[in-house]
Amino acid sequence: MQNLVLIPIGTVIQNVAGFLSLSLPEILNAPCKVLEKEVVFDPFYSSERKQYHSTEILRQLLPFAKDKEQHILGIIDEDLYIPILTFVFGEAQLGGRCALMSGHRLHQEFYGLPQDESLYLLRCEKEAVHELGHTLGLKHCSNFECVMRYSNSVADIDIKRNVFCPSCSEVLGIPSLW
Ligand SMILES: [Zn+2]
Ligand SMILES: [Zn+2]
Repeated sequence: MQNLVLIPIGTVIQNVAGFLSLSLPEILNAPCKVLEKEVVFDPFYSSERKQYHSTEILRQLLPFAKDKEQHILGIIDEDLYIPILTFVFGEAQLGGRCALMSGHRLHQEFYGLPQDESLYLLRCEKEAVHELGHTLGLKHCSNFECVMRYSNSVADIDIKRNVFCPSCSEVLGIPSLW
């Protein structure tokens, strides 16, 4: 990955994109910028599920991945789904260039708990690194602390570290921050 582009979609509260643009360059060993673009997501709302179709929004990001070494991460605060799952934290093209993440279920308030901004941002960071790891060709990792470990809940996310394990770093050919 030569460079990383973050695209906030809709109302992304607490300036997640700004935070990630500062923290991701070290973890992913790539420069990062935030791009203000209009991304259509309204048509992909399911009124039955009260969620947005993740894959359809991900598809809207493809035209923004212009040069070969650019990886795009869309950041949305709406709840996302794919038809076979109740929800997804995010979705990525494996070995592709685009990824999407949602902060919706990363807020403590979603679980009826008091707001915790630093925990929220740390979860967003892990989810961002995880989805971008997929775009770099990484599959799920069996190391339970590795950021590439599959997460089904925020509890799973909280157990993980925000960086790649030594073997995932080696696959990527980037310095390990483990
Ligand atoms: Zn994954
Ligand atoms: Zn790993």
